Amino acid sequence: MRSRMSVRVSFLVVLSLLLCIASRSAMAADGPDLVLQGGKVYPSPAGNPIDNAVVLIRNGQITAVAKRSELKIPKSAQVIDCTGKVIVAGFWNSHVHFESGWEDVRHLPAEKAETHMQEMLTRWGFTTVWDLGSDPNNTLALRGRIEAAEIPGPQILMAGDIFPKGGHPVYLPAEMQLPEAASAQQAQEMAGQYLKMGLDGIKLFTGSFMGNKPVVNMDAAMVKAAVDVAHAQGKPVFAHPQNYAGVNNALAGGVDVLAHTIPTEGRYTEDELSHMKRQHTALIPTLTLWTTVVPDAATTDKLVAAGADELKSYFAEGGVILFGTDVGFQSKYDTTQEFAFMGRAMPWRDILASLTTQPSAFFKQAARGRVEKGVDADLVVLDADPASDVRNLARVMCTIRAGKIIYSSQGRLQ
Ligand SMILES: [Zn+2]
Repeated sequence: MRSRMSVRVSFLVVLSLLLCIASRSAMAADGPDLVLQGGKVYPSPAGNPIDNAVVLIRNGQITAVAKRSELKIPKSAQVIDCTGKVIVAGFWNSHVHFESGWEDVRHLPAEKAETHMQEMLTRWGFTTVWDLGSDPNNTLALRGRIEAAEIPGPQILMAGDIFPKGGHPVYLPAEMQLPEAASAQQAQEMAGQYLKMGLDGIKLFTGSFMGNKPVVNMDAAMVKAAVDVAHAQGKPVFAHPQNYAGVNNALAGGVDVLAHTIPTEGRYTEDELSHMKRQHTALIPTLTLWTTVVPDAATTDKLVAAGADELKSYFAEGGVILFGTDVGFQSKYDTTQEFAFMGRAMPWRDILASLTTQPSAFFKQAARGRVEKGVDADLVVLDADPASDVRNLARVMCTIRAGKIIYSSQGRLQ
């Protein structure tokens, strides 16, 4: 009895081993999932491009990047012809909101969600976004549906908002319940609750815009209390600064990212620029936003010019710049204008870095941001080269996240 049992056990062991070997070799024989063939690849913003290249993608990762003549393309692969196209890493938008059009996302039909996601983000090449404030439970549900492959979309990182007491910005509906903190202890508790919910960072309104009344600022002690909680868990803190006091309190409290320029102030002071540089603070310009805040064109031009000057001064200082548009709060989904405005302040390669390598490094996602063997296959295929015109960064043919096509201008490919 005993011996028969052991024979049976060993038979099962051998059988399962054989099955395991068989399934492994089947996988190995599968070949790459996806091949981008014939495009010009920029492996990184600073590096030389590879002309007539091939990118092999398998199991969500880039397995090879080389000249077409140097690689054999497996017959089983899905090949996308990229002749005349340009391939760069997937883009980050470090300032978005899932607000307008995303209400009650649990019950939003998947097709409708996909269409809206394309209009707002994926057709502009975004494979990772930072949501800097929305109803967190709603956006967590959206993130869940994307990760369950119900809705093609970007990686969503989320920050929870904290406003100063009495600092309900005039541009948000009065009936909207906002999380306001009246003390450092409250800010600390709220930051802790957000991180407990599974959010990835905190956003502080260090300056709230009150229309004709003075800006309401959050004091530095409150900022620091929230920052300490976030930093203890390795999470970043963003600030909506609004004015000089909002910038200075954010810097004094150790905020990581300024989520806007402050164009109504005209320029950063020398002290602010050196403080930002010393603390390795990142800046999100959101220049397009300044075209949407007032109807009068002359004022708008002035605000954009001031924002671009501030961007230029921090870029010249060697500061970290992260691309971000505040889309979802403002509804100019097209990124062309933002690239044109940023082009007044910095070269196209640095704008590409603000979309790729800079956010990947800043937010510690080292497996993203480049087109190289071994990194995640987050990619954008462009119809034209940004080297000839930076606005070509908005001419997206195809957006790929983890080896899956999440947007194609040519309709469904997968
Ligand atoms: Zn915003």
